[in-house]
Amino acid sequence: MSHSQELQSATTDELRQSEMQITEDIAGFSGPCPSCGGREFATFQPAAFRVPIYACRNCRLHITRQPAVADGAEPDQVYEASYHTDYEKNAEKKTRTSSYRLCVVENAIEPGRLLDIGCSVGCFLRAAVARGWDAHGVDPSKYCVESCITHGLHARIGDMRHLDFPDESFDLINLRHVLEHDWELSDCVREMKRVLKTGGLLLVEVPSVDCWQVRLRGARYAKFWSPAHYHYYWFSRRALQNVMSQAGFEHVPLPLYGKMMSCGGFSDTLGFLLWRTHKLMRHWLYLSPLQVQAWHKT
Ligand SMILES: [Zn+2]
Repeated sequence: MSHSQELQSATTDELRQSEMQITEDIAGFSGPCPSCGGREFATFQPAAFRVPIYACRNCRLHITRQPAVADGAEPDQVYEASYHTDYEKNAEKKTRTSSYRLCVVENAIEPGRLLDIGCSVGCFLRAAVARGWDAHGVDPSKYCVESCITHGLHARIGDMRHLDFPDESFDLINLRHVLEHDWELSDCVREMKRVLKTGGLLLVEVPSVDCWQVRLRGARYAKFWSPAHYHYYWFSRRALQNVMSQAGFEHVPLPLYGKMMSCGGFSDTLGFLLWRTHKLMRHWLYLSPLQVQAWHKT
């Protein structure tokens, strides 16, 4: 199939999908949308899914009721062993990009006490410690927490809905590829707000349905819709903004470039600039299937 035929076919499919008005009988989900309260949804079902995905017609939050394997299963059984070992194999690269990310964040907030939710094997924690943060991590996986502790990092078992920390404990919370995994969105955001200090920053990265790949390919963008990711949600910018502002967070625009690499030499600075330019271009051109937003607790 040629590229133009493919696009035409995708558009036809999407039109057909968008005309489908969901009823309680066939959907098993009639809302309200946890982001905007809407009750009208379009539906589609990527090939690998056993249940449909519902797209809120108002805010474009995409929702599925596919039962997470985590229902009754141990977190370490949910993901294949390769999920964590792949992280360990790429630890050096992931630690470097985490450091770049902190370079940008540190323009908005001085290093202080940080919580990485879904810390995995601790790449972000390693970068944070190296940059002078008092870094703590939580992850539901025993394997990951033990790996962090082996590397001398502070980590404990937990999830974002039940954070075993006192109120106002952290200056920064990093939430990368986590929010989409819990059905109770507002409970999660409320719990993070509780442990964040007033004036603290919450950095959120989630899958973005605003990207061109989703708009053009719809359900056929299989990599994005894989059920193996165990996502309940995929966010438009507006949907994420609704969820966060309803909880009382205030959006913070992140600076374009931020601090240069303060601990490295020329190659680190160049690497940072290339990385940041690449991220921004993908963001501006709506090419990135991910979105990053920063939020202040006021
Ligand atoms: Zn909505």
